[in-house]
Amino acid sequence: MKAEKPRIYLSPPHLSGYEEEYIKQAFRDNWIAPLGPHVDAFERELAEYVGVKGAVALSSGTAGIHLALRLLGVGKGDVVFCSTLTFIASVNPVLYQGGVPVFIDSEPASWNMSPSALRKAFKWAERKGRLPKAVVAVDLYGQSADMEPILQICREYGVPVVEDAAEALGATYKGKKCGSLGDFGVFSFNGNKIITTSGGGMLVSDDVKALEKARFWATQARDRAVWYQHSEMGYNYRMSNVLAGIGRGQLRVIEERVARRREVFLRYQQALGDIEGIGFMPEASFGRSNRWLTVMTVDEEKLSASPLDLINALEGENIESRPVWKPMHLQPLFAGCEYFTHEDGVSISDGLFKKGLCLPSGSSLAEEEQERVIGVIRKVLGG
Ligand SMILES: *Cc1c(COP(=O)(O)O)cnc(C)c1O
Repeated sequence: MKAEKPRIYLSPPHLSGYEEEYIKQAFRDNWIAPLGPHVDAFERELAEYVGVKGAVALSSGTAGIHLALRLLGVGKGDVVFCSTLTFIASVNPVLYQGGVPVFIDSEPASWNMSPSALRKAFKWAERKGRLPKAVVAVDLYGQSADMEPILQICREYGVPVVEDAAEALGATYKGKKCGSLGDFGVFSFNGNKIITTSGGGMLVSDDVKALEKARFWATQARDRAVWYQHSEMGYNYRMSNVLAGIGRGQLRVIEERVARRREVFLRYQQALGDIEGIGFMPEASFGRSNRWLTVMTVDEEKLSASPLDLINALEGENIESRPVWKPMHLQPLFAGCEYFTHEDGVSISDGLFKKGLCLPSGSSLAEEEQERVIGVIRKVLGG
C-alpha cells in the first residue's frame, strides 16, 4: 500500500515564534477580552509600517471594506465601481449597504483595475447622471493596481477610493506601501494571507477622525454615557486582544515573508518558464509585488492540458491549487450588473480566469515540497 504523501497547502499560516510571547502576555494580564493593549499596539505598528496616520483593528478585512463604504456615505441605490477580478469580499459590503456594484475590467500589465475601463465607466455614469459614491480598487495577488491614473480619474470626478489591499501587505507602488494610496486602505489577516491573526483585518487611513467613527461603529456604536446608550446602528467588528498579539508577532517578520514568497515565485518561474505556453503573472514596473500567490497561466492551445487538468493532477498528489478568482461580472449573484472592459469587445479578466492557476505559495513551503509541485506539473505537460 502506498502511503499518502503529506498535503501541500496553497498558503498555510506560518508562525514566526514571536506570537507566543504576546499571547502569554495577554493571558498573564488576563487581557483575553476584546480590545486591550495588543490591539492598540498592533494598530500603531501596522500604521507605522504602512505609512499612514491611523489604523483600526477589526474582526475581518470584509468588515474594513464595509466600514469604509459606510464612512463614504454609500447607501441604498448608490453605485460603487469595483474591480471585477477579485474575491467576493471586495464587493459583498456594497450589498450590505444596499448599493449597486458596477464592475471594471483588469489591464494586462498588473491584472488590476484598468484605468481605461474606469474612464469608460465614469463617462457612462456621467451620461446617466449617476456618479459612483466610491471606487473599490483591488491589489490582486499581492500586486498594486496602477493607482496614479486611477486616483487621477477619480479626483476629476470627486469620487473617493477604497484600496482593497487584503492580499497586498508589504507590496509597494512607486515606493509607497499598498493600502496607503486610496482614501481608505484595507488589509486581511485571514488564515491564508501573507500574515495572519487566524482571522482579522485592518482599516487604515490618514483621516484619523473618520477612523475614530469606524472604531465607534465597530464597537456597537456605544455613546459616551455611563449606561449603554445608542444613537446609531453599530456592529461587533473589533479584533480581540489575543488575536492582535498574534498579529504583532507576525508583523515583525513581514519583510522576510515577502522575500520568501518572492523566492518561491522565482523558483517556479525558473523551473517552468521554459515550457512553451506557460506564463506567469507579470510584475508591473510601478511596484514590488509581495507575490502572495504565484499565479501561472496555461495556454491551452499550445499545451495539451488546461488549468483544471493541472489542478486535478496536483490534487491526485495531495497538492492544493486553485483557479484564478472567477470575475464578479460572471457571478450569478451579480447577473445584470454593468461591466466595462479594458478594450471594446475584449474582457481581459475573462481570459485570466480561463488560463490562470494559483500554485502553493506559502512562505513555509520547503524546497522539496516545491520540487514535488514542479514535478507534477512537468509530468502533466510532458516537459
Ligand atoms: C481575503 C480578502 C478579503 C477579505 O478578507 P477577510 O479578512 O477574509 O474578510 C477582501 N478582499 C480580498 C481581495 C481578499 O483576498
